[in-house]
Amino acid sequence: MTTLTAQDWHQKAAALIYPTGHFIDGAHDAGGSARFSVTNPATGRELCTVASGDAGTVDRAVASGRAAFRSGVWRRMAPRDRMAILQRYADLLDAHAERFALLDTLCMGKPIRDMLTIDVPSSSQTFRYFAELSDKIDGSVTSTASDAFHYILREPLGVVGCIVPWNYPLLMASWKVAPALAAGNSVVLKPAEQSPLSALLMAELFIEAGGPAGVFNVVNGLGETVGAPLSLHMDVNKIAFTGSTEVGKLMLVAAGRSNMKRVSLECGGKSPQIFLPDLGDMDRAVSYAINGIFGNMGEVCNAGSRLLVHRAIADEFIAKFRAAGTDAYRAGDPLDPETNLGPMVTDSHCARVTGLIETGVREGAKLEFGGSRPALPGSYVNPTLFSGVTNQMTIAREEIFGPVASVIVFDELAEAIRIANDSIYGLAASVWTRDLVTAHKTVRDLEAGVIWVNCFDHGDMTQPFGGYKQSGQGRDKCLESLLSYTQTKSAWVHLG
Ligand code: NAD
Repeated sequence: MTTLTAQDWHQKAAALIYPTGHFIDGAHDAGGSARFSVTNPATGRELCTVASGDAGTVDRAVASGRAAFRSGVWRRMAPRDRMAILQRYADLLDAHAERFALLDTLCMGKPIRDMLTIDVPSSSQTFRYFAELSDKIDGSVTSTASDAFHYILREPLGVVGCIVPWNYPLLMASWKVAPALAAGNSVVLKPAEQSPLSALLMAELFIEAGGPAGVFNVVNGLGETVGAPLSLHMDVNKIAFTGSTEVGKLMLVAAGRSNMKRVSLECGGKSPQIFLPDLGDMDRAVSYAINGIFGNMGEVCNAGSRLLVHRAIADEFIAKFRAAGTDAYRAGDPLDPETNLGPMVTDSHCARVTGLIETGVREGAKLEFGGSRPALPGSYVNPTLFSGVTNQMTIAREEIFGPVASVIVFDELAEAIRIANDSIYGLAASVWTRDLVTAHKTVRDLEAGVIWVNCFDHGDMTQPFGGYKQSGQGRDKCLESLLSYTQTKSAWVHLG
């Protein structure tokens, strides 16, 4: 993984030089005098200030993207040449892994080892996957009467606005930007204000890889001052959004109020995992349950936050979870490669998570462990397990986005499915059983976009990722995602 020590990483962090503006028309742009502050959540100290864009900045970035699109410099490039640039770009992401790791870890507190083993390699893999698809976006010829020749072209949309959250800053941006670029679009990326830095390095490396100026732009700023004008822009053809359900709904309103732009939404989740008595290896199942909720501090849209456990195995499951889970994730310095639990992204998010834990206790759930904050300066919350939870409790209904698991006991599978589906969300779910029929029937009955059987959070680039219900619409990764950044054009040729 890394041979560097915490001290090495701190030295690298101290020596890190990074831009703090926007990236427009192929160059860094310092922006105006308005700035917002970025705090390192592991220390509570200000890391830097960053240019706070506005509607005018968005206009400039969109105009640059539009000019590049009109010129054809990217969309009309031979697809294999586009592919070569994106593959070179993926190599550059890997080559700059340490810088990306530092930038995201310093801004949002993720353990540096997660950046090096998950976020950066998954991001370069995302670009490689979509690069390889660049010359496989085919049109078709349909069957017609002999007096006509009808063909269908698949073309890019134009300028795509990508609005992303802070929990996987580099990776969530990659999931949007890679298919948008592979399909020939221009991009304006708006990172979350908590994690604005890695996006600038992404855009800079696109130029280094040989990408044309204007194709990949970044505007930093707040949701209200940059995200909103981007979503309302009359010259943006699509908003690809990952974030909260609340803001996701605003994207749909903005599309309706402006130019009917396309909208894809990856929003919140409250993923259930159903554990049946015949699940086989209980230790393995418990280990997946622990990692599924405590990984990335629980700041994961598909976090397995609702553990639906059959009454026959509930005591054993909880005992094993307590034994293995209490110390599995230990709060520490995110720049220490041994650390696997960083702070919550901000003080206010930390306060929200601890507030929800208090609500869980108040509403009668049993605190098995955690619920407290470690004696560290940053906004840390200890991994927490509740038992005795009902699906009506606030902790079972609201997306906590923190390391908080709830065990809900059930007696019948039908009851478990009812509970699993009793949520406004439907991003992901799992079922644990050795019985083939039960497994497939449960897959069919669960209302979620991603279902795992006897595992959790497995997958590769071929797997569509996205939700049912208020977890969103549209899919990331996979071929379907690439096609969602294209539109068809029908050409009917009269041969008479
Ligand atoms: P958020 O909705 O507050 O912010 C997401 C992005 O939207 C940020 O860039 C923010 O600046 C921007 N934004 C905020 N208000 C806006 C507005 N009025 N107009 C336009 N843009 C605006 O979400 P967050 O707190 O940054 O991220 C956490 C959420 O993201 C969670 O709900 C999580 O489940 C979700 N998420 C979903 C997925 C998925 O694939 N389904 C993946 C990761 C995160």
